[in-house]
This record gives sequence, C-alpha cells and structure tokens, in this order.
Amino acid sequence: MKKKKHKRKNKMLVFTAPSGAGKTTVVQHLLDEYRDILGFSVSATTRKKRKHERGGKDYYFISEEEFKKNIENNEFLEWQEVYNNQFYGTLKSEVERIWKKGKIMVFDIDVKGALNIKKIYGKDCFVVFIAPPSIDVLIERLKNRGTESEESLKKRIERVRNEMEFKDKFDMVLVNDFLPETFRKAEQIVERFLEIDEEE
Ligand code: ADP
Ligand code: 5GP
Repeated sequence: MKKKKHKRKNKMLVFTAPSGAGKTTVVQHLLDEYRDILGFSVSATTRKKRKHERGGKDYYFISEEEFKKNIENNEFLEWQEVYNNQFYGTLKSEVERIWKKGKIMVFDIDVKGALNIKKIYGKDCFVVFIAPPSIDVLIERLKNRGTESEESLKKRIERVRNEMEFKDKFDMVLVNDFLPETFRKAEQIVERFLEIDEEE
C-alpha cells in the first residue's frame, strides 16, 4: 500500500464507463493502493446482489419501495434508473460519511450520474471515462465475468453504444486495454489530481 500525504481533502474522483469496461476493477485497485486516502461512495441500488458482493460495502441493496421513499425524502445527491426498473443512486449521507473521515470520495457511476456530480462539484470533481479497447472486447469481458443472466447481458450490451457517445464530455478518457498499464495510468491520475507527495 502506498503511504502518501495529500494537500486537499474535499475532492471527488469519478469513474464512469459502459458496463464491462473495467470501472470496478480500476476503482478496487485504487482503493487498495490508497486505502488511507480514498473512500468509496457506496451507492444504493434495487438490483439483486451478485454472489461475491457484500451489502454496505459494494452497494446498499434496498427494495424499490425504499428507494422511492429516499427519492421523496430528497436523500439522493443523484440517482438514475440505469436499466428498466433498476435504480441506482448516491445518497447525500455518503458525502458526509466519507468527508468526515477526511477521505476523498471515489465514485463508480453511470455517465448521466457522473455528469450530474460534475455539475454540482465543478473542478473539485475529476471525471474519468474508462473506455474499452473496442466494443467487441467489452462484450467478451462482460460474458467472461459470468455475473449476468442472458437478459441482463442483453440490457447492458444495448446500452454500450449510447454510453460511449458521452466519452468526450469528461475530464479524461482512460482506455483499459492491458491491465497493468491501466492501473499505472489510474495511479498517475490520482496523484496528479490530488497533488500527492511521496512521504519522506
Ligand atoms: P465494470 O465495473 O465497468 O462493469 P469490471 O471491472 O467488472 O467492469 O470488468 C468487467 C470484466 O472484465 C471483469 O471480469 C474484469 O475482471 C475484466 N477486466 C477488466 N479490465 C480488464 C483488462 N484490462 N483486461 C482483461 N480483462 C479485464
Ligand atoms: P452494476 O449493476 O454493473 O454494478 O452497475 C450498473 C451501472 O450502474 C454501472 O454503470 C454503474 O457505474 C452504475 N451505478 C452504480 N451506482 C450508481 C449510482 O449511485 N448512480 C448512478 N447514476 N449510477 C450508478
């Protein structure tokens, strides 16, 4: 784990991409590398939990009823119906939870959610669009991940082309081809954005 100090704390790093491009892989790597600095924004979702996922860590898995109650009570910073009848949202309480610890927030959210966060936080928020080397490679990775049913896979693939069109709206595009290289570039992004200095 890298021991670092950084200059400013109230910043946000957002990773966005079509499903299967590698957001979770990159974000998880950064959270391991910069454990003391970065805090993951745990989203609420109405989708079913995958086998390896843990409630409260990967997502807050909640019912549609509870999600809608949160919308009514104005508890979301942003939310989207990413897929038909599947809701995802960032709770305002997450910002408080992470900033209270003095950590920088890291998001893994869809392209529309990323644009909304950027609109609210401006230059304190850096948005990285993770692009696959090609759409075919992304489809292959999604299939190999083995987490989706036929129907869910179809929903995700249908959305990819549309999401790719957003790519130039963000601060940076990171092409996720050879993973070690992607990790290295992602670390550079963190260090530059946060102006991290090596500890002596
Ligand atoms: P997302 O969170 O954007 O949906 P994931 O991080 O789950 O995407 O990645 C999708 C799948 O592709 C996972 O099985 C992951 O292990 C794999 N993967 C991610 N990046 C690469 C890469 N550079 N090369 C090969 N496989 C990758
Ligand atoms: P998955 O079901 O594969 O975990 O996520 C599906 C999509 O929803 C991904 O693009 C993911 O980044 C996005 N997502 C996850 N959490 C949020 C959130 O809180 N808000 C928004 N807008 N999208 C989210």
